[in-house]
Amino acid sequence: MSSNDALVDIARVFRGTFVHSNENAPVEVLEDRILGIDTEGRIAFIGRAEEVGKLSQAWGFRISDVKHLGAHQFFMPGLVDTHIHASQYSYTGTALDMPLLQWLNTYTFPVEAKYKDLDFSQDVYTKVVKRTLKNGTTTACYFATIYTDSTLLLGEIADKYGQRALVGKVCMDVNKAVDCYKETADLSTDETNRFIGELLKRKYALVKPVVTPRFALSCTTKLLDHLGEIAKNNDLHIQSHISETKAEVNLVHELFPDYKSYTDVYLKHNLLTNKTVMAHACHLTDSELKLFRDTGASISHCPNSNISLCSGMLDVRRVLKHNVKLGLGTDVAGGYSPSMLDAIRRALDTSKALKIQDPEYKTLTFEEVFRLATLGGSQALSLDDRTGNFEVGKDFDAILVDPFAADGPIDMFPYENTKVILEKFLNLGDDRNIMEVYVAGRKAIPFQESV
Ligand SMILES: [Zn+2]
Repeated sequence: MSSNDALVDIARVFRGTFVHSNENAPVEVLEDRILGIDTEGRIAFIGRAEEVGKLSQAWGFRISDVKHLGAHQFFMPGLVDTHIHASQYSYTGTALDMPLLQWLNTYTFPVEAKYKDLDFSQDVYTKVVKRTLKNGTTTACYFATIYTDSTLLLGEIADKYGQRALVGKVCMDVNKAVDCYKETADLSTDETNRFIGELLKRKYALVKPVVTPRFALSCTTKLLDHLGEIAKNNDLHIQSHISETKAEVNLVHELFPDYKSYTDVYLKHNLLTNKTVMAHACHLTDSELKLFRDTGASISHCPNSNISLCSGMLDVRRVLKHNVKLGLGTDVAGGYSPSMLDAIRRALDTSKALKIQDPEYKTLTFEEVFRLATLGGSQALSLDDRTGNFEVGKDFDAILVDPFAADGPIDMFPYENTKVILEKFLNLGDDRNIMEVYVAGRKAIPFQESV
């Protein structure tokens, strides 16, 4: 229990079961606890239920205001999607019949070119923010498109619905297949500066810009240089893609012959920092993983996309052994589901597919993958001082799960403990089980009438 030195007011108090991860345990079940959230949306205290009298005196809330969770309900931390293309949401669930480089030229670039149109952008971006929130994604790291104004609109929509988000205006000055969908290096630099300036000026509490070179193959070294400089001068997050497919890796070696590796391309342009998240990384060498560890850069594991586009299978154990930070991503629309519950399942599938290839391989446990989808994601995005688990002082980003919600997909059996019920929810649950979603203490789901 913390003391109320700062004299903050308590906005909400819950009593019930809280499930989360910490450094020592991938799943920690806290039964019958009292958790208080202050008016800033931060976790003010967590105590045992029998301490409620003491807590109410120390923090100045009424015991009658404590909200009791229902039988079997529990809170878990909000899910962190470390890699999602908001602009590809319109064709999620389709277009999964080509390898990456053809897929980009055939499906992705022609669709992304439509985002000059703000009405079109408004429609898709509203839908993706609402859908991901409903599925428990409290933090999303978004790719938008090359268009600044429509990317600002994505930031506005995330703010309006109360989702924590990193939003990236995509930068690319090379596109041989769809010529209309690219910028010059100078325009891309100017527009990135304009995007960052405009977004920061709006002072959204939870929405921040992220410098976003699409990937090495879409950028000249001049543009990569400029973007590295912008990120460094403004201490910003960076996101991109790396080593998703072998064909892409080979092409990077061909087009960037002066660099030691794909990772070296980003490193030399100041794009590999402790605020960088790189999607995929299926085919990195040990020395590249070492560069990730040394710089503090992280990996977004997108297992649905990796299988759907036949890109590769990331060995998560190997990444973790190298002490590289790792979170999960949906990679909509290369990944066909916007739900992080799907990312959890596909991460387990991939781990098992690796074991089929090598019987000695130690598969990931559901507990470990739960941590990757919550605390791991927050670490991958360098947001773990704000979110990721239920530590006093962090923002209350949480999902209220009712595993046996009426008309839900899970049947109840007697004598199941919370950990078993958590496993069932992760494997079988969906948004019918997600009764409420909080981001920084504010209730985002059910949607509020004001939005
Ligand atoms: Zn991607």
